[in-house]
Amino acid sequence: MREYDFVIVGGGLFGSYAAVYLSQKGFSVCILEKEKELFQKASTVNQARIHSGYHYPRSIATAQISEEYKARFIKDHAEFINDKFTHFYAIDKFNSMTDAAQFERFCNYLKIPCKRILEHDSIKLNRLESLFETKEYSFDGSQIAKFYQSKLEQAKNIEIKKRIEVKAANPFNEFWEIEIQDIDNQLVTRIKTNKVISASYAGTNGILNIFGQKEINLIHEITEIAIAEVSGFGAAGLTVMDGPFTSMMPFGLSGKYSLSSVSYTPHEISKNNQPTFSCQLKVKSCRPDFPSICDTCIAKPKTNFAKMEHQIRHYLKEKVELKYAGSKFTIKSKLKASYIDDGRPTHVVKLQENPSFYCIFAGKINSIYEIEKVV
Ligand SMILES: Cc1cc2nc3c(=O)[nH]c(=O)nc-3n(C[C@H](O)[C@H](O)[C@H](O)COP(=O)(O)OP(=O)(O)OC[C@H]3O[C@@H](n4cnc5c(N)ncnc54)[C@H](O)[C@@H]3O)c2cc1C
Repeated sequence: MREYDFVIVGGGLFGSYAAVYLSQKGFSVCILEKEKELFQKASTVNQARIHSGYHYPRSIATAQISEEYKARFIKDHAEFINDKFTHFYAIDKFNSMTDAAQFERFCNYLKIPCKRILEHDSIKLNRLESLFETKEYSFDGSQIAKFYQSKLEQAKNIEIKKRIEVKAANPFNEFWEIEIQDIDNQLVTRIKTNKVISASYAGTNGILNIFGQKEINLIHEITEIAIAEVSGFGAAGLTVMDGPFTSMMPFGLSGKYSLSSVSYTPHEISKNNQPTFSCQLKVKSCRPDFPSICDTCIAKPKTNFAKMEHQIRHYLKEKVELKYAGSKFTIKSKLKASYIDDGRPTHVVKLQENPSFYCIFAGKINSIYEIEKVV
């Protein structure tokens, strides 16, 4: 039975960062990944916003943690950051859960720049209570994925097993004995480790069950990020908040823009701890305890681009033109508790010792470093 210092379940950004970090400390690591390739889910299908805190006026904790890691994340991934645009945050006259005075107070408290703007060349102000110029960047998820893939390949003490399903895990003499199955040829083997890390995001509760841990309370959504070519908007991003609103911002370094909307990005919501959706009736290999890739799925939803465009148009002057350039779909998972304050904390917790079990449940990309505090 092959033995490793750490076994990490899930090869998205959080699992990959943890593997690189641990291998640099001299540990041997095995990544177990369900799919044919790493980075096929939330880590590359997201809005690509490097959160500076602005987005979370109802969750000071999320806002502060965003700010805490932002500088380090930008420094470590400088080549993959788009900082060549101005991000505007706007507050709608109706239905916003914040107002200009609260937002300014919140920014001052966090010491993040925000300047009130009274007119703009491409943004219409008649529906807005206020508009602020802020400083917030975008990351290029696919380039960051390549960067970590090359780090994983270069590391001598990391082994990656793809198309793997964890079938069983038993604690024995301070070790986990883990039974894994190759999904393509059904071959079952066993590996051994003293420490397991789950970094499986939407698949988290499936893995917690196998390792005998208590489920965490999650909500899942099938989400769409629409991509558009935009002209007449200059180098800018616009986020209308805080409520059922919308955003249009540069999508990393692609030259395109992402469109997202609180109302139209989610297509179906699952309130079960494991992601349970109607489309799984059509695609049996995608199970609640073992969810698959939405982006390439035959049962993925039809695009909501037209609705998203209609919504953002309320805030754009006539000269701004949008052309649909595709959509990206994936499961977004959130802590149930975050429905109250809209927070997105990253949870890294040690749930068991000897053999040890750690669970990473990621809220924001720039909190990859949280693992260093716990492991
Ligand atoms: C629509 C959307 C918009 C977002 N916008 C932003 C944003 O603008 N800024 C930001 O900072 N964050 C954003 N986020 C959050 C951020 O993308 C996630 O927190 C982060 O990508 C999670 O990374 P991860 O590595 O934990 O998960 P993933 O990238 O999903 O990786 C998990 C991996 O685990 C694998 N896996 C799952 N179950 C198993 C299993 N049983 N066995 C083996 N492998 C398994 C999966 O196949 C996958 O490869 C957004 C998320 C979504 C979905």
